Amino acid sequence: MHKFEFIDLGDLFSVASSYRNAEFPYYSADVIGVLEDYQPLKTIDTKYGDTQILKFNIADGRHSHQVTVWGALAVSTHAQYVRIVERPIIAILLNTIPSLKIYFNLDNEAVSAMRQRICTTAKGMTSSTQTESSAEMVIETLTLKQLSEKTDTKYLKSNFLCKVRVKNVKENDNWWYFCCNKNNCHEEVSKIEGKYKCFKCNRNYPIAQKRYKIVVLAEDETEAFNCVLFDRAAKRIIGKTATKLIAETIDFETTKSYPADIKQLKGKDIILKIELSDDNIMLKSSIYNATDAYDCGASLTSESVSVTASGSSSENVEV
Ligand SMILES: [Zn+2]
Repeated sequence: MHKFEFIDLGDLFSVASSYRNAEFPYYSADVIGVLEDYQPLKTIDTKYGDTQILKFNIADGRHSHQVTVWGALAVSTHAQYVRIVERPIIAILLNTIPSLKIYFNLDNEAVSAMRQRICTTAKGMTSSTQTESSAEMVIETLTLKQLSEKTDTKYLKSNFLCKVRVKNVKENDNWWYFCCNKNNCHEEVSKIEGKYKCFKCNRNYPIAQKRYKIVVLAEDETEAFNCVLFDRAAKRIIGKTATKLIAETIDFETTKSYPADIKQLKGKDIILKIELSDDNIMLKSSIYNATDAYDCGASLTSESVSVTASGSSSENVEV
């Protein structure tokens, strides 16, 4: 489990220069960005003998900093680099004082949020090779009306992004359910003879996970549709797991009140990642499944921060 506190790349130098006692710092910044202009390992001779270095730039679409990695860390970083298939590569430089760790495409929310932001604003990329390789990652953004017109069978399981406002939260529906444990199966399991059975996968489980399933009325200027926020989408917007929220609303059964954490979605502007289902294609159903979601408010805040920052794009980070 990794925990990070990220700052905007544009703020990096003002933050770094504010650290006192730079030789033995108590704090340091963790950096996340897109890896660009990767220059593989090469050997250079220093006054201490030969050492290996590699260089790359870490960029967020506005700012780009060159990173130089030395010695053993350069060798291990390069080994990591050559194993990575997915592009663009999102790099995290984690300052665990006194040493530094470098992660590529770590499977966590900060990385997927960054990837999403890069994909939706792919024009922000500067390097031509990066633009080419990230092009295939781009998910098309549609209005709800355009989404409802994607009824050809070739769109089954396709993903699209829709920027919507949550008009209403369907408080009459259950907001969580016992979910099948199999990856990518969103089916509700039934408790039969003390076991949880998924009829879709035809499998039994001794325990089942509690997952979000929140129905909201989402609208944009073209249409309004009911969307089901599945676990990942709901978790990202609400900021906690279903299990945690259930524990917090333990008196839910007695009071029949709907959790305030979910009610506050009303009026929010969010981006939904919609996966077109059999029902959307075959039955022309206009209830859409959101497998992921992004808070528009959050990204707007970080953008306004970087606009006011006076980060230079030419300084180098030596690590
Ligand atoms: Zn299943």
